[in-house]
Amino acid sequence: VLQEIARRIAGFSADHGSVARLGGDVFGLLVGERGRAASVDIEVRISEVIEACQRPVQAGRKTFECEVSAGVAVSGLDGQDARSLLSHAEIAMHRAKKSPSQRVQFFATEFGDQVLHRQELIQSLKTAIENRQLQLYFQPQFDRLRRNTGYEALLRWHHPLLGPISPAEFIPLAEETGLIVKIGDWVLEQAVATLKEWSEQGFSGRIAVNVSALQLHDPGFADRLSALLESRGVSARLLELEITETALMHDIELAMTTLNRFRELDLTLAVDDFGTGYSSLAYLKALPVSRIKIDRTFVTGLPDNEQDQALCRTIITMAHTMGCEVIAEGVETEAQASWLALAGCDELQGYLLGKPALKGFLPENIDI
Ligand code: C2E
Ligand code: CA
Ligand code: CA
Repeated sequence: VLQEIARRIAGFSADHGSVARLGGDVFGLLVGERGRAASVDIEVRISEVIEACQRPVQAGRKTFECEVSAGVAVSGLDGQDARSLLSHAEIAMHRAKKSPSQRVQFFATEFGDQVLHRQELIQSLKTAIENRQLQLYFQPQFDRLRRNTGYEALLRWHHPLLGPISPAEFIPLAEETGLIVKIGDWVLEQAVATLKEWSEQGFSGRIAVNVSALQLHDPGFADRLSALLESRGVSARLLELEITETALMHDIELAMTTLNRFRELDLTLAVDDFGTGYSSLAYLKALPVSRIKIDRTFVTGLPDNEQDQALCRTIITMAHTMGCEVIAEGVETEAQASWLALAGCDELQGYLLGKPALKGFLPENIDI
């Protein structure tokens, strides 16, 4: 396929420029002579190249259709030398890839800053573990009688220059770059070591760890995790793996080997952010799910919002029907806590009862 695409692009370069394969599925095309090519002209020409590349490619007995995106940097305007022109064209190309409608994207200066920030973050995230910049915080979870049943482990990144960076910002980067696999392993090691430490101090609660879908795609994940638990002498039942409803359902086929192995190894799942995605009940029933987490957005409106009330009641009933426990996250007021407890929600988590903190700074159990 690459050879055929290369031939098609080369066909265009014959009359006006040169072509090179820059790596993987990225080609570079040098168009026009100095000062000659107007941008309208370029856009028309690039569109022709794209159209040619998007025609089906026959390879062996199969036919492939390629999606092509192009980024353009104009000499003199977007850079003076080959290096900056190439890098700016590439940045524009990534923009085009993300846009559903725009196949050709011209470089704009403001892209540069964002991408630079992104690339800087990725660079420092690569060494964040070695540089001891990652920390696990723990947020307590409570049953209806407000006995502490466990903790959710939440990752924190303290960047030396930028300060604390929210996981909401860096987890997606870690997922895009695959760094999440290494980071996820680190989180699990820390969590299991903490479980060991706490059980020696007489605490019998569990720790819930957030996992990304990407981690579950590795068919060896369950066995490695089980070996880790065994080497520390920690029961698999004390560890809970939180995965968001959207991630779980989206990639379920890829994660199936791992998920099937979980049941044999006594590992269980909590479905995070429940209600924000679309769950297949058939899948939910088949998976080793032990807990459903009601998303914060449904808790915020309690106790007054009737729609939130109805949704929470429905989730609780459904979860119990399937033999799962329910925990509500983002509980911030007494009114929310008592409404949920009355509605039959098994556990609560939120700023009202305890904020995430480093393990040395966790409050003692809250008394009622
Ligand atoms: P999440 O799993 O839904 O985590 C709950 C988030 O809500 C946490 O934000 C927590 O600090 C915050 N929170 C807890 N109680 C309250 C409350 O009462 N009110 C409000 N307004 N917020 C509350 P955080 O720590 O910033 O984490 C954001 C997200 O990052 C998490 O959402 C989770 O999806 C992801 N994440 C965190 N740690 C990890 C990790 O180790 N691995 C992976 N894959 N994802 C992680
Ligand atoms: Ca979570
Ligand atoms: Ca959540």
